[in-house]
Amino acid sequence: MTDTMQQLLRYANTLTDLKNTIALLQWDQETYIPEQAHQERGEQLSTLNTIYHRQQTASELGELLKRAQQVLNDQSSDKDKALVRVMVRAYDQATKLPTEFVAEYSRLLSQAHVAWVAARSQNKFELFAPHLEKVFNMNKQSADYYGYKDHPYDALLDLYEEGLTTKQVTEMFAQLREQLVPIVAQASQNWTRQLELTTPFQKDLQVLASKAALRAIGYDFNRGREDASAHPFTTALGANDRRVTNRYANDLSFIFSALHEGGHALYEQGISADLARTPLSEGVSLGIHESQSRFWENMIGRNQQLWQSREFVDIIKMFPEQLGALTSQDFYQIINQVKPSLIRVEADEVTYNLHILIRFEIEKAVIEGTLSVNDIPSTWNQKYKQYLGVDVPSDAQGCLQDIHWSGGMIGYFPTYTLGNLGSAQIWDTYKQKDPDYQETIRSGNTKKILNWLTANIYQHGAIYTPSELMQKATNQPLNPAHYLNYLQQKFL
Ligand code: ZN
Repeated sequence: MTDTMQQLLRYANTLTDLKNTIALLQWDQETYIPEQAHQERGEQLSTLNTIYHRQQTASELGELLKRAQQVLNDQSSDKDKALVRVMVRAYDQATKLPTEFVAEYSRLLSQAHVAWVAARSQNKFELFAPHLEKVFNMNKQSADYYGYKDHPYDALLDLYEEGLTTKQVTEMFAQLREQLVPIVAQASQNWTRQLELTTPFQKDLQVLASKAALRAIGYDFNRGREDASAHPFTTALGANDRRVTNRYANDLSFIFSALHEGGHALYEQGISADLARTPLSEGVSLGIHESQSRFWENMIGRNQQLWQSREFVDIIKMFPEQLGALTSQDFYQIINQVKPSLIRVEADEVTYNLHILIRFEIEKAVIEGTLSVNDIPSTWNQKYKQYLGVDVPSDAQGCLQDIHWSGGMIGYFPTYTLGNLGSAQIWDTYKQKDPDYQETIRSGNTKKILNWLTANIYQHGAIYTPSELMQKATNQPLNPAHYLNYLQQKFL
């Protein structure tokens, strides 16, 4: 390794250590922090974030990256090439926006968040609209600063999914819209079974069952832990510390949250140790990350065979009063209920992508200037009726439901759908390698599946771009046909 690459690696180690330390403070903020420590913690985080930002934007790093780009050649390892690519990308993202613009945007987002909370609780979109308009305008400006080839929305998509373009997303969603709407209409007639709950799910048993589910899919508790938080999440505090959280309500959602966050964590626990303390020791993108959470939550977690495996039968047995009377067919129907609904985060795997489609169409139209922010509520409601067949009774349950826009995350939503599509494509590829996959799952040998995923996807961390990785793992680019086939076979 050349001196330059060694210097760059050391720089990457420092940035990663800082980032993981910040994540530890944030994890604590969401889990165990004492009530009165919040303000002080906010100051600590602000101090560390300032130091991180200074390191991430230092001209010293800019020069080091230029030198590193010059020493790379055809003989350089994939790891070295990737380290430079990923660090150049992060440096560009951190330095292309003028400092005053970043400060103004950050002020806007604080105000927008307060306005969104008020607008949602009072069901008054007009309280949020002027802020949202500014959020969209500043996102258009930042697209200009970042630069793009064809469409300003490309620059925003690329922030969350390297290389993703508006054209690709538009084509993908056109195919989905045409085929999903009739699948939803039919599946929601037939998959209506709901859990009738007379006895509540005890919280302490949910905690035990959640850990048992994580253990069963291969989550390594020696390199992570699970705690409770208001919203489930996965976080990386280091290569050997990938934590998950869960939320315990009075239904079966804790199992699927455990498998979802567990999927994110399995991905990261599977990254090669060789990449530790570098930005390559992360999932490569939000879309690929979500493909793994969805894979374990849906393809494995909502699979009939899984619930016949000893580990998962034992989980059902932990709740005799709630689940004891159900046949395995009943249980399977219940965990796969299809119900067009208003709220994205509660949506089933059949209707989910239509929620995303609606947000994408609206974001794209506002960025293009063909839809005004004031017309978002009426457009939203009309699309919910058209695609999902539901009437939206209030903006609070409609266009004000998600936190993303108030947080400035324009271009983020499509990554959820990329994840769903990717999960089915990876599942199809796996099934070809293991024609006895049903037996693999029923016998509780999901380790076999995990090993395949680790060898083909997880170990690589962020070495390859999302599209390169999908191509390598599945031998083709992302293709919505896999997901549509999966839904047709499962639900129709
Ligand atoms: Zn997720």
